[in-house]
Amino acid sequence: MTPIGSDETRYIFVTGGVVSSLGKGIAAASLGVLLKERGLRVTLQKLDPYINVDPGTLSPLQHGEVFVTEDGAETDLDLGHYERFIAANLSQENNTTTGRIYRTVIDRERRGDYLGRTVQVIPHITDEIKRSVRVLSEGHDVVISEVGGTVGDIESLPFLEGIRQFRQEVGPRALHVHLTLVPYIQAAGELKTKPTQHSVRELMQTGIQPAVLVCRTEHPLGDEIKGKIAGFTNVDPAGVIEALDVETIYEVPLQFRRQRLDDFVLSRFGIRAPAPDLTAWRRIVDRIKSPTGSRVRIAVVGKYTELVDAYKSVEQALIHGGIANDVEVVIDWIGSEKLEHGLDPSFLAGYHGLLVPGGFGRRGIEGMIEAIRWSRENGLPFLGICLGLQCAVIEFARNVAGLEGAHSYEFDRGSPHPVICLMDEQRKVTTKGGTMRLGSYAARLVPGSAAARSYGSTAITERHRHRYEVNNDYRTVLKERGLAFSATTTDGKLVEMIELPDHPWFVASQSHPELKSRPTRAHPLFASFIEAAAVRASGVRSPKAAALGA
Ligand code: GLN
Repeated sequence: MTPIGSDETRYIFVTGGVVSSLGKGIAAASLGVLLKERGLRVTLQKLDPYINVDPGTLSPLQHGEVFVTEDGAETDLDLGHYERFIAANLSQENNTTTGRIYRTVIDRERRGDYLGRTVQVIPHITDEIKRSVRVLSEGHDVVISEVGGTVGDIESLPFLEGIRQFRQEVGPRALHVHLTLVPYIQAAGELKTKPTQHSVRELMQTGIQPAVLVCRTEHPLGDEIKGKIAGFTNVDPAGVIEALDVETIYEVPLQFRRQRLDDFVLSRFGIRAPAPDLTAWRRIVDRIKSPTGSRVRIAVVGKYTELVDAYKSVEQALIHGGIANDVEVVIDWIGSEKLEHGLDPSFLAGYHGLLVPGGFGRRGIEGMIEAIRWSRENGLPFLGICLGLQCAVIEFARNVAGLEGAHSYEFDRGSPHPVICLMDEQRKVTTKGGTMRLGSYAARLVPGSAAARSYGSTAITERHRHRYEVNNDYRTVLKERGLAFSATTTDGKLVEMIELPDHPWFVASQSHPELKSRPTRAHPLFASFIEAAAVRASGVRSPKAAALGA
């Protein structure tokens, strides 16, 4: 392969049409996998057309999970897919929004950089869009930029114009991939290509000719339909890719490879590279589709359970834990409020593990606390994440340490025992956007703890996204009653992890370990949690569970 310098970087722009939720992020990430496995240095980027500067202030029910990068950027959940697929850490530069683009341009205008000139969408906004793509060329052979939203939306127009200009400027070093839907009409017994034709026409009206069409479909397209689509859209038939529904998202790179999508893209770019080695991906897919071990049932009791996208990384990390242990993981999403309206926590007896994920605001908190209590008292493996740790501390304070009315300052400003509180730095904060404890922080683990055994190390880093912390004034009393603080920040000042030594597996973390889990390398906490759940599922009681009578 001829090495490509940064001025030789190739650019792939991914757009979507017909309907939203076609899986553009997965498609972009899967193409990234193929190119990476052929030896190219690949990065991925999301361009989001909304006006928020970042998704940090959006409700997870609106936009799904907020994915946090090592450098503390609050980003779109597609960055989670990108990181999991190409196994690389991304940063703020890998996600931009209309709001961020405009903010940069407006700041420049206020500084006087455009003195005398009218500041306009073209060229100033489109120039900034192009710049935000180009900054990623450094150190990368291929930059894949996905444009959020659907072609035809008013708000994505500046991005489409920006990526049109980009291709005009760099010529064959850029190409456009368009994702569409080929619906199957039951009554006619036929696949219909018309929506795809219309969508490509819409894209062409903005001046963009796609080189590749990825067609989502429930039925195989066959050469005839592929040829028909190619004929109507000026796309080479080899560039029409069928994206048939698959059992697991990790199958998509294999599906694209079977159709030689990577060969097609590389030939367009004039790059020769060895064939990809997809052995690891085959193994992942094989383990998910036909695990040899038992079925492990996990209850996730949280706030945003109506939308599984709200906990995308948690879901994926649990699946990775299943891959690592070669077991099937079945996840049930249970709204914690149900436990406040009559659902008895003993329903958890039907599960092998409880996970309480992150969240904000008071709604459903008491339900989470009830679920945690049941798992503590009945030896059910428990993993608490961020808010999950905070609820576990509240539960222990109230029900074991006898601190009546214990609560988090976030939910009860008048609690006699604010076991979760605001640290000094956070007390001064008055604005919401980007002001939490964000990004990667180092922690020190207590040797011999379940946490240290899981990680196989006592020095770790994890990503954070929260405002509240365990109140240090209560550390002594909680510890005396049996709660172990198994990790702290390296200066010992903040609690990072807790656990219960007399429980089969009860571990919680103030950080978000799910963000660093990969299909090829399950996060150690998720691997251990699923392992403990598998022990419970197999009916073989761990010695600790037996001692508890669970
Ligand atoms: N609401 C809690 C806090 O701000 C927990 C946040 C979370 O779970 N990510 O500290």
